[in-house]
Amino acid sequence: MDYLRERLVAIEERIEAASVRCGRKREEIELLAVTKTLPLACAEDAYALGLRLFGENRVKEAVEKYGNRSGMMDTRLHLIGHLQRNKARDASRFFDCVESIDKTETAIALNAYCAQAGKTMDILLEVNTSGEVSKSGFPDDSALFASIDSILSLSNLRIQGLMTVGPLTDEERIVRASFARLRELFEKLKSLYPELYLSVLSMGMSGDFELAIEEGSTRIRVGTALFGPRTYA
Ligand SMILES: *Cc1c(COP(=O)(O)O)cnc(C)c1O
Repeated sequence: MDYLRERLVAIEERIEAASVRCGRKREEIELLAVTKTLPLACAEDAYALGLRLFGENRVKEAVEKYGNRSGMMDTRLHLIGHLQRNKARDASRFFDCVESIDKTETAIALNAYCAQAGKTMDILLEVNTSGEVSKSGFPDDSALFASIDSILSLSNLRIQGLMTVGPLTDEERIVRASFARLRELFEKLKSLYPELYLSVLSMGMSGDFELAIEEGSTRIRVGTALFGPRTYA
């Protein structure tokens, strides 16, 4: 477990340094551990080091992995990958938050299953801020604004904020612009919907979380920097 302890310390130092650079407090930023493709043992090790927030990008994999866990019952599990409508039922039962809502139809299906289960689900709206076609998310602000009122009317879902995956490039300027865009949209939503108390801006991964923190991220989703390289995406 030492490998993990050292990586966690290094990540904490990076978070701390980025927060200091932009005058923010460490407590404003949550660290979500991404365990996709990894065995449950990795999550258990991270749990033993104090982490409680975990993310998976596939519903089936998450259910298979975490469904049989004994202990770790105070973890919060988030879906961070695209949600297909035919997985909405399992997702409604299994996750504490779906960070990747990018269509009204998916939200409607998820809401219906949450209503059946008598639960209210936290959700984030995912926005494609990079323009990369391979990425999911609402393609732009107007697509999001066209859907938001219908999503808001779904009483078993609670919108907490926004999520994005930054562009795949080493060019800092481009990555930063993408995070800044999400932040601006977040501010716009907060002023248009003050009654929602939007509080979560989920952006930043292993390679770009410092930039995300500097641009206002409140939740970074970290896999590789914590657990090492994955064998597949
Ligand atoms: C895999 C993944 C992450 C973590 O990526 P790393 O680069 O390994 O930190 C974060 N967010 C989403 C949506 C992911 O699919």
